[in-house]
Amino acid sequence: MPKLRPTAAANPRTKRPAAFASCRVSLQTAFLFDLDGTLVDSVYQHVLAWHEALTAEGIELSIWRIHRRIGMSGGLLTNMLLRETGLEIEPARIERLQRLHSEAYKRRLDEVRPLPGAAELLSFLTSARIPWAVATSGRLETANLALAKIGIDLSNVPIITRDQVRFAKPDPDLFIAAAESLGIDIAATFVVGDSVWDMLAAQRARALGIGLLSGGYGLDELERAGAYRVFDDPAHLLQHIDELGARR
Ligand SMILES: [Mg+2]
Repeated sequence: MPKLRPTAAANPRTKRPAAFASCRVSLQTAFLFDLDGTLVDSVYQHVLAWHEALTAEGIELSIWRIHRRIGMSGGLLTNMLLRETGLEIEPARIERLQRLHSEAYKRRLDEVRPLPGAAELLSFLTSARIPWAVATSGRLETANLALAKIGIDLSNVPIITRDQVRFAKPDPDLFIAAAESLGIDIAATFVVGDSVWDMLAAQRARALGIGLLSGGYGLDELERAGAYRVFDDPAHLLQHIDELGARR
């Protein structure tokens, strides 16, 4: 039998065979962020905007029922709500609802603020050379308006929106497209989101889900949907960033 030997000389400092050095080579990781409720405090503005749109169409729905669907694709959200209310799902009605929602949300944009620590977390990742991207079920127009509130340079950051993929959350397409745009294996990424739809999309994409409570979902719901860890908001995540293998 051939004798097994290290492939190169031992490290003189650690006395370990050089072959062990390769064990320290880890996968390049990246952070893929949801936007609403994850980086900006906008979930309730979206909920009220949907409520306003539905009311304008003569559809009466309690606000909490809408909140439970926020974070998924706008098309799926309207389909589900129309089905539950027994109304016909006509393409023209869905288009009208989405336009009314977008107009109502833009009227509330002044109230939208970055979540605590959002700018600091993203700046930290940039300075630590850890790639990151944004993947949102929202449209590019509204996403850009909300992202501008964070006040950081986004010129080299991929922003993947509903306009660029066939299916939005809970399908994994947005996160897969975000990982691809960074040139990083999706299985090596963290998906950070506030809704169960983000965590489900993360699981389907084989990424590790990190939940945030800043969108109104509970800890147990996020964990049940597959969150590996749950933090309050971006500031809390940044405090624990070393636990995710992102070295300062
Ligand atoms: Mg969200």
